[in-house]
Amino acid sequence: MSAYGVRVEKDHTVFCAGHFITYDGHECEPLHGHNYRAAAQLEGSLDENFYVFDFTRLKKRLKDIVDRLDHRMLLPDRSELIRVEAEGDHVVATYKDKRYVFPRSDVVLLPIPNTTAEMLARWIAGQLREALGETGLTGLTAIQVEVEESFGQRALYREDL
Ligand SMILES: [Zn+2]
Repeated sequence: MSAYGVRVEKDHTVFCAGHFITYDGHECEPLHGHNYRAAAQLEGSLDENFYVFDFTRLKKRLKDIVDRLDHRMLLPDRSELIRVEAEGDHVVATYKDKRYVFPRSDVVLLPIPNTTAEMLARWIAGQLREALGETGLTGLTAIQVEVEESFGQRALYREDL
């Protein structure tokens, strides 16, 4: 059995974003940021060009997605612990006695339970799958996205197609 794949991870597939996560059911990190870097990998059969997927197209799709997160505050829309509500032009995030108020335009609300690198990788993979569309996915067998949160520290999400 043999397999082919392509993977992109470029200096421009980075996004600087703020977040804070909850953990152990009752702990919440202070607000902080990361210079995240995303990588995407596609596996599948070779097409008539002997490609799995065109690198240029893959880089562009990935960059378009991470650009939407760049210079934003990332908040989870599905958290059971952090309450996130829109108040006019602002978004209010509440955790116990902590209350953060952000301008709406500075925030990206993500349909995830926690803004861990794992959940960000899953969200990016879903967006990438959507961006590739049905024709783009032809011949592909798996998609994998990695999110590096700091040097030597990354999470990944992989999905069979
Ligand atoms: Zn963090």
